[in-house]
Amino acid sequence: MKKNLVTGGLGFIGSHLIDRLINSGEYVICLDDISSGDKRYLAKWEKNPKFRFVKGNVLDNHKIKFDNLWHLACPASPKDYLSDPILTARINFEGTLNILNMAKDQKAKVLYTSSSEVYGECEKMPQDENFLGLIRTTSPRSCYAHGKRIAETLCFDFQRKYNLEVKVARIFNTYGPGLKLKDGRVISNFINQALNQIPLSIRGDGNQTRSFCFISDIVDGLILLMDSDFKYPINLGNSYEISILNLAKLIDKKIFSNKQFYFEESTFYEPKRRCPSLALVGDVLKWKPKVNLNEGLNLTIESFKNENS
Ligand code: UDP
Repeated sequence: MKKNLVTGGLGFIGSHLIDRLINSGEYVICLDDISSGDKRYLAKWEKNPKFRFVKGNVLDNHKIKFDNLWHLACPASPKDYLSDPILTARINFEGTLNILNMAKDQKAKVLYTSSSEVYGECEKMPQDENFLGLIRTTSPRSCYAHGKRIAETLCFDFQRKYNLEVKVARIFNTYGPGLKLKDGRVISNFINQALNQIPLSIRGDGNQTRSFCFISDIVDGLILLMDSDFKYPINLGNSYEISILNLAKLIDKKIFSNKQFYFEESTFYEPKRRCPSLALVGDVLKWKPKVNLNEGLNLTIESFKNENS
C-alpha cells in the first residue's frame, strides 16, 4: 500500500487533506511540529491503524518511508509567519531542501503547496501562472513570498537534476471549517468578531481585494494535481474577487447585522488585489471550485458557532 507523508498535516489545509486521504483508505504519516497546527486532530486519526504521527520540524532529519509527499509545512497566516520571519525563510528554503532530499532518496512523488504570494503586487488581473511576480526584498512579507519562490525553484531544480516527479500548487486565500479561532486571517477574525458582537477590524480603507476558496475545493484540486502528469506551477483558488469592506459587510449581515466596523492602519505590506486566473487549471485538471462564497461562509459560520459554544 502506498504511503503518504503530509508535512504540516495539523495545519488548516493539511488536516483537511489528511481527513480526505484517510477516508479514501490511504496510509498517512503526518509530520508536524505543532507550532501553528492543531493537535486536537490527532485524537480522531490515531484510532486508525493506517495513521502515524511524527512530531518534528522539516528542518530536522527524519527516517520516514513514503511514496507520495505532500509538502505543506509552513506557517500560513501573516500573523504567524511574520512573528519569526527568519524561521519562516528557513522553513521555506532549508526545510524544503531537506524534504526534497528525503523524497529524492526514495524516488517519491512530490506535491508542494506554494502560494499566490509569489505574484506579489500583480498589476494584471486575474493573475495567471506566467506573471513573473513583483515583490520587494525589503518587505517584511518577503520571508514568506520569496521563501515560497525559492521553494518552488528548488522543486524545479530537483525535477531537472534528479528527475524527481514534482507538482506545484499556487494556493490562493482559503477558508472553511477548521480555521483556528485565533488564526488571524481575515475570515476567521471577522466571524469571531461578529459572533462576539465587537466591531469588525478592517485594515486600511477596505478597498483591497481577495478571492476566497472553500477548503473542500482546494483539497479536490490538490488530489487531482497529485494524480496528474502536470509539471509546472498551477493556480488553485476561487476567482470571485471581493473587497475586504464588502466581505466585512457580508459576514456582518449573516451574523448579527451590527454594521460596526473598525478601520485600523495596515502594517502588513500587502498586495492590493488578488484574484486567480483559473484558465490553466480548468484546462489541465478540469477543475473548478464548486462552493461559492455564500455557501462556504454559511458552513464556516456554523462551525465557528459550534467551536464557541
Ligand atoms: N484583513 C483585515 N482585517 C483583519 C485581517 C485581515 O482587514 O482582521 C485584511 C488584510 O489586510 C488583507 C486581507 O484582509 O487585505 C486578507 O488578509 P489575510 O491575513 O487573511 O491574508 P493575506 O491575503 O493578507 O495573506
